[in-house]
Amino acid sequence: MTDFDATRALFHLPEGVTYLDGNSLGPLPRAAAARMAQVQAEWGEMLITGWNKAGWMVQPARLGDRIGALIGAAPGTTVVGDTLSIKVYQALASALDLRPDRRVILSDTGNFPTDLYMAEGLIRTLGQGHDLRLVAPEAVAGAITDEVAVLMLTEVDYRTGRRHDMADLVARAHAAGALVVWDLAHSAGAFEVDAGAADFAVGCTYKYLNGGPGAPAFITVNPVHAEAALPALSGWLGHAAPFAFDLGYRPGTGIQRMRVGTPPVLQMAALDAALDVFDGVDLGALRTRSVALSERFIAGVEAACPALTLASPRDAGQRGSQVSFRHPDGYAIMQALIARGVIGDFRAPDILRFGITPLYIGEADIDRAVTVLAEIMDTAEWDDPAFRVRAAVT
Ligand SMILES: *Cc1c(COP(=O)(O)O)cnc(C)c1O
Repeated sequence: MTDFDATRALFHLPEGVTYLDGNSLGPLPRAAAARMAQVQAEWGEMLITGWNKAGWMVQPARLGDRIGALIGAAPGTTVVGDTLSIKVYQALASALDLRPDRRVILSDTGNFPTDLYMAEGLIRTLGQGHDLRLVAPEAVAGAITDEVAVLMLTEVDYRTGRRHDMADLVARAHAAGALVVWDLAHSAGAFEVDAGAADFAVGCTYKYLNGGPGAPAFITVNPVHAEAALPALSGWLGHAAPFAFDLGYRPGTGIQRMRVGTPPVLQMAALDAALDVFDGVDLGALRTRSVALSERFIAGVEAACPALTLASPRDAGQRGSQVSFRHPDGYAIMQALIARGVIGDFRAPDILRFGITPLYIGEADIDRAVTVLAEIMDTAEWDDPAFRVRAAVT
């Protein structure tokens, strides 16, 4: 049994704040400060010898394995580094390279734009006439034809929280001879995942994994492709012998070749501490509690705020770990909520998002969020010009 009061105590949560935005940026794990101070001391005392002595250079693989354990990936198949946009590019490039006779990348209109932008850039760079085909999320299964080289999907829609049946889609893609790049940005650390089914899986570590702003992303390559996948971003740390300083590139063994350049050592220290929180956490229990808290939130908001419309699937089986509502004045409503210490976020054009993260939120947080939201709606407290001023990050 996972003790969620115990996991909550492992986070710093500001006084008076109800935090429902862990789907976008997880809170600070209390142990992160000491871990970062330790790495700072290593840097201070060891200087460049820290790469060997303090094991900085092996952290990308070590942390990769820790994440792998949370997403159903075998040891030695996951590595951390760079940002998710970069990892999407890498995965897609390698996947396309493994299907040279096909030209279609299939994705959906619910995908996070950077994944699509990176695909567009890759297509331009390759100059081989690839086609990024976008269909509605409900139409993906029917659009998997034998033209498709790669099915590139984000499991959970960042706006609505709608969750794809990835096991089914991966099976369909494989049956059609296509490869799958599975983006776990809103899955890793939120519920159980079997990334072992995909050809490539990628994700970020600052959302449900709580690695902190700027924490590195991860990439998993199915062992079937480990020695065949050629990295498009052929950086020196993915070379078979980085310190031989050969003039030509030779890919390293397996997942090592998905490394690019110097890893973010300070960020990895925070991530390591954040992953400690998951030691002993039963992801099945986490999911059960996420569903219960989500149902409680939906019922509360629907009863108290008739002007808000549920944007997430009503069936918990089709949701990730966030709940979204629509309102034409969603931005102002969210600013009013934040001003009252209930933090969610807004996604254009009209979505209020609330992350449900049982590692550190419970019934009392859900109930407080519902109460404050209902007050703001009842009194039209949100209808203030100050709440309509758009910030750079929404
Ligand atoms: C959050 C998110 C990203 C962010 O990419 P970065 O390069 O880390 O900024 C990319 N893709 C998806 C699906 C996301 O949810």
